[in-house]
Amino acid sequence: MLHDRDRIFRNIYGLHDVSLKGAMSRGVWDGTKFFIDKGHDYIIDEVKKSGLRGRGGAGFPTGLKWSFMPKADVRPSYLVINADESEPGSCKDREILRHDAHLMIEGALLASFAMRAHTCYVYVRGEYIREREALQRAIDEAYDAKLIGKNNVHGWDFDIFVHHGAGAYICGEETAMLESLEGKKGQPRLKPPFPANVGLYGAPTTINNVESIAVAGEILRRGSAWFAALGKPNNTGTKLFQISGHVERPCVVEEEMGIPLKELIDRHCGGIRGGWDNLLAVIPGGSSVRCITAEQAEAVTMDFDALGKLGSGLGTAAVIVMDKSTDIIGAIRRIAYFYKHESCGQCTPCREGTGWMWRVLERMERGEAEKREIDLLFDVTKQVEGHTICALGDAAAWPVQGLINNFRSVIEARIDDYQAKHSRMAAE
Ligand code: SF4
Repeated sequence: MLHDRDRIFRNIYGLHDVSLKGAMSRGVWDGTKFFIDKGHDYIIDEVKKSGLRGRGGAGFPTGLKWSFMPKADVRPSYLVINADESEPGSCKDREILRHDAHLMIEGALLASFAMRAHTCYVYVRGEYIREREALQRAIDEAYDAKLIGKNNVHGWDFDIFVHHGAGAYICGEETAMLESLEGKKGQPRLKPPFPANVGLYGAPTTINNVESIAVAGEILRRGSAWFAALGKPNNTGTKLFQISGHVERPCVVEEEMGIPLKELIDRHCGGIRGGWDNLLAVIPGGSSVRCITAEQAEAVTMDFDALGKLGSGLGTAAVIVMDKSTDIIGAIRRIAYFYKHESCGQCTPCREGTGWMWRVLERMERGEAEKREIDLLFDVTKQVEGHTICALGDAAAWPVQGLINNFRSVIEARIDDYQAKHSRMAAE
């Protein structure tokens, strides 16, 4: 269990002063100039040594990502912070923006300095109005205190701008976000070129999740070795977990990477509604990963590797718990509808496949499908997965695959019930 002294987010519930004064009393902005004076490469090396992996879902090593940015370029460099948190189940960045925004602003300065960027854009989810206001208040405080801006106390000119999205999930995809920031329709770009080379306005750009940036200051203050000692090898540090669904007390909580899922739920959520015997399935990393069964959930640890071995993923660590009252076909059908609705329509497998999967699942939910369609549906998910411009296609395919892999018997039983009912009706 994570000790209180190892928590990075000390005001995640907004119980303390959210102002700059309050943040400073918790240690934020302490030593920032000291680390900047140590140079660009020092910061990148420390973040690399900490083992921090991106907290937005993909888990790419953050320090390595920063090191891809050019050291000398006539073009300006940019940092873009992805606060377009729209994945069903995810709500951790919301808490940072509301209550611990100075951690992210300080991290933005450090990361931008490390990558030789003077400008940062924060792309905030359209629905996050209060969060955008809270963030802007914190940014204004930082400007007033000369912590950021031109000729600031840290000796690195740095501006940060908040861009409010308009509610499209796809703008959380990094290249769609760049298009949207440039004032265009939010549609993903083909890669390569990668943003580190050709990003915002054609210039070198790194896109990071809110949490990845917000932990940077504490990693430097306490040292990379401290962060690397928490969690498990290759899955280091602390992480914000968001647990929703059929638990006694849904919550967002910071814990060590690699905590057993059972311990996470029992300790922080008061257990499963009706007890662990009442658990049906868990989606452990936001709606875009494959669900796991109750047996798997009781044994798995919450990290990239352990969940990856189960064919699922840590994703954003948004844990969606479903007890036995859940219609699992209906739950996945709703997720399928979400991805159909949010597809930007640029590529055929995603545009056509997401709608196709949703329509078949609708019939399966009612039991109207034929059993042979289960394999056909799985086949279609494989035609979508890996055949699209961006990861939304995969995100739409994986939940359906999880349903078929783990709950095929439920679909078959629904079809049997429907057919038996209709045979009876025909006979009467
Ligand atoms: Fe658009 Fe879907 Fe293609 Fe992504 S995978 S670019 S969301 S159509």
